[in-house]
Formats: sequence, C-alpha cells, structure tokens
Amino acid sequence: MDRVLVTGGAGFIGSHLCERLISEGNRVCCWDNMSTGSERNLAAVLSSPRFELVRHDIIEPRDIAVDRIYNLACPASPAQYQKDAVRTIMTSTVGVMNMLDIAERCGATLLQASTSEVYGDPLVHPQREDYWGHVNPIGPRACYDESKRLAETLLVAHERHRGAKVRIARIFNTYGPHMSADDGRVVSNFMVQALRGEDIVIYGDGWQTRSFCYVSDMVDGLVRLMSSDLRGPVNLGNPVETSIMELAERVNAMAGGRSALVHRPLPVDDPCRRNPDITLARQRLGWEPRVSLDEGLKATMDYFRDMVKG
Ligand code: UDP
Repeated sequence: MDRVLVTGGAGFIGSHLCERLISEGNRVCCWDNMSTGSERNLAAVLSSPRFELVRHDIIEPRDIAVDRIYNLACPASPAQYQKDAVRTIMTSTVGVMNMLDIAERCGATLLQASTSEVYGDPLVHPQREDYWGHVNPIGPRACYDESKRLAETLLVAHERHRGAKVRIARIFNTYGPHMSADDGRVVSNFMVQALRGEDIVIYGDGWQTRSFCYVSDMVDGLVRLMSSDLRGPVNLGNPVETSIMELAERVNAMAGGRSALVHRPLPVDDPCRRNPDITLARQRLGWEPRVSLDEGLKATMDYFRDMVKG
C-alpha cells in the first residue's frame, strides 16, 4: 500500500485519480484549496478510512510523509486561470517548489501535471515532446503557459542537480464527469447550453481544433507514467483531432438539437490547432486512449443532464 498525496484532488481530473488510487488499495491524502474543486466530486471516496481531504493551498509550505505525489493543483480552464493571473503563476512556481521540497525530504516521486499549453499556438503538427513551442510570454494565457513551462524546468533542474524523482505529464484537453458547469471549457459550456436549449456559442469560425481525451483514459495514463521510469515530459491526450464546429454539432445532436450555433470573437492567442503525438506514451507506457469521443460525450452528457436538472 502506497501513501499518495494528490494536490488538486477535489478537481476534475484529481477526483477521478483519487477514486482510482483508493480502489487500488492506496492511502490517499488530497490537498485542495477548493478554488475550482468541490467535495461533491469526492463523494465516492470521502467515507473511505484510507482517504483524507485537507483544505490547503500549495502556495503555502506544509509537510507530509508520502511515497508518491501527483501535483494537479492549478486552475486549468482559461476562464479560471485568468481570473487571478498572479495566483496562477504562484501556484505553478512557488507551489511546485513546495512539492519538490516534500518529494526531496521523503524520497517521494513527484508527478507534475503539465499541459499542452507549453506548446502555445503550435507551428508544428502534431506536437511531439521535443517541440519547444510557440508561446506569447505576455499574452492573456501566459500566466498559465509560462508558469507551467517553468514548473517543467524546476522539475528537470531538481532531477539533474539534486536527484529528485520526477515525472512530467503534458495533459491535452480532457473531458468527462466532474467538470464544473461554469468553468468555461468548451465541452462543459456546449453541454450546458445544448441541454438548456440555449445558443451554443462558438468562438471564432469554429475551425480551430482540439483533441479530446476522456478522463478515465487520462487517469490511466497518469498512473502508468507514475509507475514508469520515464523522466522527460510525456504527452497524454487523444490523437483524434476534432474541430470545435464538429464538437458543437455532435453535442447539439446528442442533446436533442434544440440549440442554434452562434459565433463570438475568438479570444486572443487561442491556439488554431492542437493534437498530441503520443508515440512516446504508446511505446514506453503501453498507453493509448480507449474511449471514443461518442462514448465519452454520452457519459459526460448524462452527468450534465443530472446537473442541469438538479
Ligand atoms: N470555445 C468555444 N466556446 C466556448 C468555450 C471555448 O468555442 O464556450 C473554444 C475556444 O476558443 C478554444 C476551444 O473551444 O478554441 C477550446 O477551449 P477550452 O477553453 O476548452 O480550452 P483550451 O484548449 O483553449 O485551453
């Protein structure tokens, strides 16, 4: 049985990860400042004697003795991480340094949730881990992109110079139950709008693409990466590229087709294309997504149907 710390464990991906780790017999401590997470996401594990929830912000130092740390603490949707840009930067810099301190003190392995945003608005498709990216350092997304890039730098420096045990997951767009209805991401926005019969609001012409990975596949990738000996960054995401327009049409059809599709201006620095090359994860982790977009959207729609009703 491992003692595992999951920061951001009350959030969207973190809560699914806690469920998985508890189901595999681990002791799990979840730290979350509850800025975007919720206890409701943890309903399946809160009563487990092997699970503990602590309201804590990783920007503040705190000690714990664990074997493994998954650092998922950070608002991840553009609308959320831009609300308090300085705090977002602190979370992925000062917060990450705090996690490295714990990892070094107790010899734990630290897995950092990095992001496809390290590639910015990429000029190379699909994105491989050795692509350095195309990031605007002073744009509205910079607080997230650049601090996540620095987080990778911090992990690699600690690994090289101090022997820290680190793993870096570059997480591409992920969706599924436990997304919050108001976090501003495209899947949650479209689903809530479609279920309410409101206009589905597409930013720009809708021909920008993303690659959507279902949350159970993502959690499986994270767990495999933690158990592997892969130190450099690894892309985790679904390699099937979908346009935002196509996503809007599919979601609308699934919800009964009552919504009109309307357009609003594209936000500044919104990437045109995003698509992971997952060769490394396939070869070294034996991992690839298994849940199709249709299956995943149906399961997510069921979740939002209950939420919109309640
Ligand atoms: N988007 C949209 N309508 C929305 C929310 C997002 O058209 O209500 C677009 C957004 O401009 C971007 C894509 O959907 O091109 C994915 O946005 P999201 O905020 O989910 O994540 P990102 O991949 O940009 O971090």
